[in-house]
Amino acid sequence: LIEVRGLEKSFGDQQVLKGVDFSAESGTVSVLLGPSGSGKTTVLRSLNVLETPDSGLVRISDASLDFGSPPTDKSAYRRAVKALRARSGMVFQSHNLFPHKTVLGNLIEGPVQVQGRDRDEAAAAARQLLEQVGLAGREDAYPSQLSGGQQQRVGIARALALKPEVLLLDEPTSALDPELVGEVLAVIRDLAAENWTLVIVTHEVRFARDVADQVLFLDGGVVAERGGAEVLTDPREERTQRFLSRVL
Ligand code: ATP
Repeated sequence: LIEVRGLEKSFGDQQVLKGVDFSAESGTVSVLLGPSGSGKTTVLRSLNVLETPDSGLVRISDASLDFGSPPTDKSAYRRAVKALRARSGMVFQSHNLFPHKTVLGNLIEGPVQVQGRDRDEAAAAARQLLEQVGLAGREDAYPSQLSGGQQQRVGIARALALKPEVLLLDEPTSALDPELVGEVLAVIRDLAAENWTLVIVTHEVRFARDVADQVLFLDGGVVAERGGAEVLTDPREERTQRFLSRVL
């Protein structure tokens, strides 16, 4: 479902990604791990084209873009970006909800304004998603009336409301107070159990061990080690071992 090939990205003279390759099957959970600054967020943002890689290819199902030789025609390029974006939903470190809109308003904004869906249909779908993230009945609340964990769960529901094929989660719990982390991880576990395709950047190694079908250890701008959850318990590479011994 997802293919990333030869992804390169520099910021100024700092080359952050030096040829990142991986793929992920539909219905699987991939966890991106690695030292601070290794480029995890940049990889995730590239999948959603929030970051424009210098070269390399990103494909999500039938949408793809070769950043090394993009379509020269501007409108063809924009179409390709739009198609990729339509296939993935992004959950950020902090939820970025619209503060002046209710929970329901936040959830139907994208479906109605961007996707042109019927308001009633979008609202019905949104209520179902709220139930899924354990927030049934909170549709009229404003973000400021919710805890950080609840806000983040709305953030997840909002990403799902756009019916993406892949959900990208960028350190979804790192901005939360420790006591609120569990409820958000529980929602993500449920999504994994329901066979959503997830790509998660997280520092929660124990959680990663539970949910990951694939672990990608990023270091030095490349995927330094790739495998199943055993990468977290029995890493082959010395740099993975060193990293894990620091965070566990
Ligand atoms: P962390 O675990 O700390 O979030 P990360 O592995 O997600 O790190 P990235 O956020 O992808 O790493 O950043 C990789 C490097 O690229 C860092 O050195 C960062 O400072 C740099 N970087 C990221 N975005 C930008 C930007 N927009 N402009 C300049 N430098 C950037």
